[in-house]
Amino acid sequence: MPNYRFLLFDLDDTLWNFKENSKAALEDIFDQYNLQHYYATFDEYSKSYEENNQTLWRLYGKQQITKSFLHVERFLAPLRPFGILDTSLAGEMGTAFLDRCAEKTTTMPHAIETLEYLYSQYNLSIISNGFSEVQYKKLHRSGLSSYFSHVFLSETIGYQKPKPEFFTEVLCELGASKEECLVIGDNYEADIEGAMNFGVDQVYYVPDKESIDKTALPNAPTHIIHDLADLCQLLKY
Ligand SMILES: [Mg+2]
Repeated sequence: MPNYRFLLFDLDDTLWNFKENSKAALEDIFDQYNLQHYYATFDEYSKSYEENNQTLWRLYGKQQITKSFLHVERFLAPLRPFGILDTSLAGEMGTAFLDRCAEKTTTMPHAIETLEYLYSQYNLSIISNGFSEVQYKKLHRSGLSSYFSHVFLSETIGYQKPKPEFFTEVLCELGASKEECLVIGDNYEADIEGAMNFGVDQVYYVPDKESIDKTALPNAPTHIIHDLADLCQLLKY
């Protein structure tokens, strides 16, 4: 095992349980804005929201839409078929959703125990494309923040993962060489390919074993884990 000194963790769905927390926050919005007038069940609304949200994040990642457009549009799109075109309402819902999200504190299984074990031996940083106004709150409220020396957010850096400029800035700030770094993340394109193309080793975190077909990946990650606790074992050897 190379002599890693810097562990760079993605935040959403790697340490902070984005899927579960954002679903709970969206359910709060569904209730708060009486969206059962339009959607018979939360699941129907959630499906419509997710479809639009994923498309919008892809466009945002390619810098084809702005953050403020994404913020409004992901709440407006599911209401448009019902004749609702109120952008200020959608913006208000967007803000309420982010506030609710930031209050949720569920972390991924074994996240805290793993960080507790690693942080005395390695320099730990967060590398995230998430919105800066919520990422810090999420880190603090979920008890994750104390383990990290640095929090690198794409909004501050001006480039998103997987762009090499993002990683250049992170390593420069840390004073780290590529060989000393290891990226841990759940997003193949942003985290794994980003680090791979930049020349940094990667740990692809796939919590759901069944969801991955290793042979279908364009390039094999340095490591694949299904449980964060496996990181401690992996780094020992
Ligand atoms: Mg992620």
